Amino acid sequence: MPLNENKSHGVPKSHPRFSSLKYRHKIIEGMKNLVVAEAGLIAHGRGECFDYIIGEKTIKTAKNAINAAVAVLLTAKRPVISVNGNVAALVPNELVALSKLLNIPLEINLFYSKEGRIKAITEVLKNAGATDIKGTNEDMMTELTGLESNRRKVDFIAKADVVMVPLEDGDRTETLKKLGKMVIAVDLNPISRTALWADITIVDNIIRVIPEMIETAKQFKKLNKKELIEIVNNFNNKLNIQKTLDLIIDYITKQKEEAFKILE
Ligand code: ATP
Repeated sequence: MPLNENKSHGVPKSHPRFSSLKYRHKIIEGMKNLVVAEAGLIAHGRGECFDYIIGEKTIKTAKNAINAAVAVLLTAKRPVISVNGNVAALVPNELVALSKLLNIPLEINLFYSKEGRIKAITEVLKNAGATDIKGTNEDMMTELTGLESNRRKVDFIAKADVVMVPLEDGDRTETLKKLGKMVIAVDLNPISRTALWADITIVDNIIRVIPEMIETAKQFKKLNKKELIEIVNNFNNKLNIQKTLDLIIDYITKQKEEAFKILE
């Protein structure tokens, strides 16, 4: 038996925080390979913190938002999924599987541009089987008006009607909204500017969201357009975020009661 079969990056699989540590290492490796920006490590840490207070699981409101998101993506005319370094490092295979299942292109879009980063991310996505990758050729890009960050440079996104933005910054979400796009956000922070600006906010970890979207898409592909539109119409993002915050309060209240029991 290989010595490290029960370990990953030196972390034993029996470690209570194995999964969290595994993804941390993916981010660190991503940074070494230029896929993840240094600031991506900090963004990941911010995400971990919010993941902790939802109980590191897909809560009911996230499932509601996932259903609405998949229904929207299945009925959209020109949908696209925006990809940044953290997403490419964490869930490349799942992301490509979702893009193929829904027949939606992936577009690399980065806040921090650095020589070789787009190439490195393209490589990761291609290795995961992606064939339709946008945002790789600067000559094909246009600029979103009203946005100063590097995220203003877009390709397919410029003409898209629905843009899914996992781990986005608030500025571009706001800009995309002002340009009339429908925005689907994946953000563990339910009160980030992105979460509040988006039309559909999935408050959950991207590592759970994409596999859940794949399973949902497999089911929803059997529905007709009317049924899909009904799912979208029954979803209220503002209410869903409010309920998410209520679930967080409930979880923390329970933890307040439970937390010290392990010490007794
Ligand atoms: P905003 O500009 O929208 O207010 P922000 O300035 O907090 O947000 P960033 O610093 O770019 O935005 O952080 C990225 C966001 O992504 C954070 O809200 C963080 O909680 C979230 N995030 C980080 N990792 C994950 C993950 N694995 N899954 C889902 N969300 C994540």
